[in-house]
Amino acid sequence: MSIDNNRKHIQKRINAACLVGGRDPVSVSLIAVSKMQTNQKIQEALDCGQRLFGENRVQEAYSHWINHKDIYSDLKLHLIGPLQTNKVKEAVTLFDMIQTLDREKLAKALQSEMQKQFRQVPCLVQINTGEESQKAGIKPQELEEFLYFCRKECNLIVEGLMCIPPINEPPALHFALLNKLSHKYSLTKTSMGMSSDFEKAIALGATYIRIGTLFFGTRQE
Ligand SMILES: *Cc1c(COP(=O)(O)O)cnc(C)c1O
Repeated sequence: MSIDNNRKHIQKRINAACLVGGRDPVSVSLIAVSKMQTNQKIQEALDCGQRLFGENRVQEAYSHWINHKDIYSDLKLHLIGPLQTNKVKEAVTLFDMIQTLDREKLAKALQSEMQKQFRQVPCLVQINTGEESQKAGIKPQELEEFLYFCRKECNLIVEGLMCIPPINEPPALHFALLNKLSHKYSLTKTSMGMSSDFEKAIALGATYIRIGTLFFGTRQE
């Protein structure tokens, strides 16, 4: 299957899931997750019109995208992996959204870097919906305070929430929780759902779905 076919196939499934859920398909944005994919496949994705991409690592994202940034003016890159404070400078330069805002130290570092660069990059707060000890993210019960901190203390633009459910649990409960929190705090963007579960995420209110394997094929190790 070509990437063009994969993309059309995914879009059909998005449309069908939206029809079932009574949603407008334009309310769901497909993020093509290009981590560990070849430059050739990335070019194929660009050639068939894809402009929204997700990357896990700042360094890898640079090598994938720095040359495309000038050519494709409508290109949008989202950081969907953990961000170390020593990479904040590069992240603010490259990305159009940071989906993994997950601690106060990072919020402060982002604030000062965005001020330096005169560049406001909107963020999503990563929620640790499964409250897993090894996983990044804010606990649901700490979100209110964290939102206040990011907005009032750091002047960050927080547009919504993202989650990565625990691998060994059905994702629907986590999607439902993220959706509930989005509504509670009147947040408009909800990033959840991957290749294996994006239809469930759409049914539960996802506005960004992050698709890697189904879009590009299996990743190179
Ligand atoms: C890799 C990754 C994805 C894409 O996963 P697939 O199962 O290949 O669709 C989505 N979200 C995050 C945070 C990822 O790291």
